[in-house]
Amino acid sequence: MALTLPLLTLLLIICGAFGDKHFGYDGPNGPNHWGDNYNGCVGKHQSPINIEEHIVTNVTLPLLKFVGLDHARNAYLTNNGHTAVLRLNDSGSAMVTGGPLGSVQYIFEQLHFHWGENDLEGSEDLINNHSFAMELHVVFYKQNYGSMANAIDHPDGLTVLAYFFEAGDDDNPAYEPIVNALSSIQNVESNITLTKPMNLESILIPNHVSIQNYFTYNGSLTTPPCSESVIWIDFKDSLRLSHKQS
Ligand SMILES: [Zn+2]
Repeated sequence: MALTLPLLTLLLIICGAFGDKHFGYDGPNGPNHWGDNYNGCVGKHQSPINIEEHIVTNVTLPLLKFVGLDHARNAYLTNNGHTAVLRLNDSGSAMVTGGPLGSVQYIFEQLHFHWGENDLEGSEDLINNHSFAMELHVVFYKQNYGSMANAIDHPDGLTVLAYFFEAGDDDNPAYEPIVNALSSIQNVESNITLTKPMNLESILIPNHVSIQNYFTYNGSLTTPPCSESVIWIDFKDSLRLSHKQS
């Protein structure tokens, strides 16, 4: 259940969920040089950000709603060289709408994780300068654009839901199927089908998290090509994972 050290190293803070392997987090391949090869990475609306709660404006938006989460689906987990990415065999009917997205629907594409080297850091966005042990990103693309590849070129093409985790003593059962599968994908490009169908509802609508209570802003992918195509929705209530799981 616990991550082994090599795996943990592999999964360090990395948001490489979009498949490009020619970037890193250190030295000549680090974030300060991403702009050398990717124009998008020197844009004006780059993520991640630090969210300062005292300067946030409160707004009332329509309710954020999930559609089609009521049944379990077969899912598989892939090591893309930067992080672990979970996709569904049939994701077309898992959607989010409402809130800052308006009346259009965004279709589930994948989810992935950002871990840190220890329990005190790991998240990408910060809230009041606080870093969390882990951050989950759930990526959806706007239905009208037909695919992730097309949506990425539009300022409203994607929405990413961000969930923040603190490390505690108790295991979080919703994550057991994923944590258990991680040891099987230690090699880059390896993947594994989860033994049981995945119920996204337990991940996307966790207990003790109000999904109507979030920070939202227009930003970018956090890795090359850094496209400024993301409506970010960062849930304010944090979740817990055990030290072992995080
Ligand atoms: Zn990410």
